[in-house]
Amino acid sequence: MYDIIIVGLGPSGSVLASALDKRFSVLCIDRKKESGGFMKPCGGLLAPDAQKALASLGLNLPKNVLVDPQIFSVRTIDMDNNLIKSYQRMYINLNRHRFDMWLISEIPDYIDRDEGIVTDISKTEKGYLVGYTVNGERKTAECKYLIGADGAKSIVRRFIKPDLKTRSYMSIQQWFREENPVPFYSCIFDSSITDCYSWTVSKDGYFIFGGAYPRKDSRMLFERQKESLMKLGMKFGEPIKTEACLVLRPTGLNSFFSGKDGIFLTGEAGGFISPSSLEGISSAVISGITLAEILNSGVKNPQKAYKKAVASLKLKLSAKVFKCPFMYSPSLRKLVMKSGVMTIPVKGNDKF
Ligand SMILES: Cc1cc2nc3c(=O)[nH]c(=O)nc-3n(C[C@H](O)[C@H](O)[C@H](O)COP(=O)(O)OP(=O)(O)OC[C@H]3O[C@@H](n4cnc5c(N)ncnc54)[C@H](O)[C@@H]3O)c2cc1C
Repeated sequence: MYDIIIVGLGPSGSVLASALDKRFSVLCIDRKKESGGFMKPCGGLLAPDAQKALASLGLNLPKNVLVDPQIFSVRTIDMDNNLIKSYQRMYINLNRHRFDMWLISEIPDYIDRDEGIVTDISKTEKGYLVGYTVNGERKTAECKYLIGADGAKSIVRRFIKPDLKTRSYMSIQQWFREENPVPFYSCIFDSSITDCYSWTVSKDGYFIFGGAYPRKDSRMLFERQKESLMKLGMKFGEPIKTEACLVLRPTGLNSFFSGKDGIFLTGEAGGFISPSSLEGISSAVISGITLAEILNSGVKNPQKAYKKAVASLKLKLSAKVFKCPFMYSPSLRKLVMKSGVMTIPVKGNDKF
């Protein structure tokens, strides 16, 4: 019997576990391993909001989570209007798996951790019973409070709120050896393929191409987009690795859910991700640390307090829905890009 079980040690679950008071007995369950096994598909770009969230925890990035090179502009490729413009971006280019493993390494030793896959949850008299498997062996653990920090496809969210249907996309990424003459980031808009967007990132000699596609026909759309980018001059060799997962894209305040009945949702499990850029690390960290502070405070009704505390995060993310037309409507985007506002001239960046 634990006070708290955390399902998922992405950025949200890890910062939460690290910040909880020693007086709680805590078990964390995540299927990730140091090497081999599940690795979160991600662009691995740490945006300024996420940098600020980590800074507020006094966390400084170790060198081994950084990749080569660090790039300070993004090439925006508008396939609808045949436009390419560069914008300054202050991202930190990371190895996402090493970043996640570093955050896990910060969790104090007195917190129990199992490398397992949660398969079922049931309500008990005292709280919740969590069933999971570790190397094929079934285990169970009981808790008073259950925390779902288990990302877009959260089993905890599906248990407590099966009817929540936040808009989601299938995100597919492929890794290639870098063959483009100069490493670069790009973000690609093509409304004939997806009403969301796609991206490329260069990391440690690899070129990663990914995108968020409507779930139906996602693989076909991914391949079709690759072909159109090849025609533009982008270089893809033989794919080394293909990865895919769901990504949520909130449409408004009702896309978020902070939990109920002793279950709390943090990070993407609660829907906390930007609908305009799909940047999710900052919201994962902020919601995780917010919940830790509330539980530590010993407040009488932590459920109500957490709901209240994440209201501003929900509002901030919902407000980004209004930014979307300027990014995703071809005619408005054309106006924005043609205006040249915020663009920077980068030598050779208007072609491949
Ligand atoms: C392709 C792609 C690219 C992205 N690029 C960026 C980017 O560059 N920058 C950015 O800020 N955001 C990016 N995002 C969004 C960002 O990755 C997520 O929003 C962020 O990781 C959410 O953090 P989290 O801790 O809530 O969940 P996650 O990071 O998804 O962590 C959830 C954890 O739960 C574990 N888990 C899930 N289910 C179970 C289970 N049943 N049993 C055991 N463990 C389980 C998983 O192993 C995982 O470790 C991207 C998303 C995608 C899909």
